Amino acid sequence: MSHKTDIQIAREANKKPIQEIGAKLGIGSEHLLPYGHDKAKVAQDFITSLSDRPDGKLILVTAINPTPAGEGKTTTTVGLGDGLNAIGKKAAIAIREASLGPNFGMKGGAAGGGYAQVVPMEDMNLHFTGDFHAITAAHNLLAAMIDNHIYWGNELGIDERRVVWRRVLDMNDRALRDVVTSLGGVSNGFPRQTGFDITVASEVMAILCLADDLDDLQSKLGDIIVAYTRDRAPITCRQIGADGAMTVLLKDAMQPNLVQTLENNPAFVHGGPFANIAHGCNSLIATRTALKLADYVVTEAGFGADLGAEKFMNIKCRKGGIAPSVVVIVATVRAMKMNGGVAKADLGAENVAAVKAGCPNLGRHIENVKSFGVPVVVAINHFVSDTEAEIQAVKDYVEGHGSEAIVARHWADGSAGIIELATRVAEIADKDSAHFAPLYPDEMGLFQKIETIAKRIYRADEVLADKKIRDQLKAWEEAGYGDLPVCMAKTQYSFSTDPNLRGAPTGHSVPVREVRLSAGAGFIVVICGEIMTMPGLPSKPAAMSIRISDDGEIEGLF
Ligand code: ADP
Ligand code: MG
Repeated sequence: MSHKTDIQIAREANKKPIQEIGAKLGIGSEHLLPYGHDKAKVAQDFITSLSDRPDGKLILVTAINPTPAGEGKTTTTVGLGDGLNAIGKKAAIAIREASLGPNFGMKGGAAGGGYAQVVPMEDMNLHFTGDFHAITAAHNLLAAMIDNHIYWGNELGIDERRVVWRRVLDMNDRALRDVVTSLGGVSNGFPRQTGFDITVASEVMAILCLADDLDDLQSKLGDIIVAYTRDRAPITCRQIGADGAMTVLLKDAMQPNLVQTLENNPAFVHGGPFANIAHGCNSLIATRTALKLADYVVTEAGFGADLGAEKFMNIKCRKGGIAPSVVVIVATVRAMKMNGGVAKADLGAENVAAVKAGCPNLGRHIENVKSFGVPVVVAINHFVSDTEAEIQAVKDYVEGHGSEAIVARHWADGSAGIIELATRVAEIADKDSAHFAPLYPDEMGLFQKIETIAKRIYRADEVLADKKIRDQLKAWEEAGYGDLPVCMAKTQYSFSTDPNLRGAPTGHSVPVREVRLSAGAGFIVVICGEIMTMPGLPSKPAAMSIRISDDGEIEGLF
């Protein structure tokens, strides 16, 4: 049992040169574009050459409604990848890149934890291969070109009050949420109110993660709606003429990054869209590449299964023509307790009754995932504070629910702690028993799509929306956007829109506050509750204790 921190463990990793990791997947070193010794991009030409190969099995890791600390989805994704390799399977993982800004606030890293991590974790949580900087640049180029277009005569007739394209920065900076630009006189343009979002909330990020290739990337970028005219006609990025230059800026960022786990197994780390106003999964191009090169690919969807897995299935799988063979739902004893009404401060004490009281949350996620036609296994991510009786209570509940729960100790023991789960997951995947189907067809009305998710996944009685919102949805249907999927933005802590309503609530309603069209990414964002697209820093940000130590190591990052 280890009491080392994630960064200590990561530093002790016996990393192999990235060419050796590529070789495990049959990627010749000539097809790797190394960034140092332990990171590489996989060349687009090589990816293109794989198109005729069969796909491996896709394994999705998702979770119950989380506690504020996270339930260990990434940790379990990495652990399961190592576990599959340990039982002799050719497996790779595919996860998101980390946003830089939040690391200086209070969030932990995004590379997993304990003995189930991806390395180099400092790089992964900082600049990595520069993808997010490229996205920031591409996004802001478009913003600059919009204001420039208005400055030089506004030929397109953009209504300056209706510019919807904001600017982005990969930093938590609440001071920039609402700003006035172009102050200072005639030569600086026309003053208007706008604001900044964090880079991961950019539609460019969502597009990069859903694009098939560079051509498709450019076409999707071109479709972005950046503003409206006085008579509310949309103006696109293509009309501004920015799509080509943005694609140039994103050319390298579009190629997936290859790194390794602590056990030297291949890990694709690429893209990282917000899980609320976007779909919250790593790039389609990375997942597809991994599927061509490995027999099993373990991937993760953000937040709990009501949000993350739902979007993975209804957005990523639908658009990408991919489907999971098996879904692993991560549950923890402490999250069961929280769903059973225990306060965060009291999670350390044994409380079997609370575990049992919280289990219906897990039960509902099992039913929901099965409703996509995909088999489910529950992974109990083991914490040192878990007691035998608490674990048994979860197992009994899951069995009573016609499923199975397996305890996994990858955080403490690496692959050796997750052999049983890996074996079972591979067995299920090999049976090909999944009959995946998204929850709703493309041609269903937009409001009906929202209702379908609210009723079938959240188990709400009704969706509440003003006439203004319903009219907006109708207008988009008439404008040809009716076949887009919907991207729900709500709290991750509850099936409902109330973060404090834990467990498995019924009888609630889902109020829709706002709808937004992401015409480039290809979905309608449905906002239920407060959504923050530019986070702030806490009163004592982590940045205050981040420094370079006397022996040159990064301190305080995690
Ligand atoms: P998620 O992907 O669900 O947000 P992560 O895998 O990133 O969660 O884990 C969140 C945090 O919890 C990390 O700091 C990780 O080290 C820690 N963690 C995960 N599993 C365990 C465990 N079994 N015991 C202790 N800490 C854990
Ligand atoms: Mg995660």
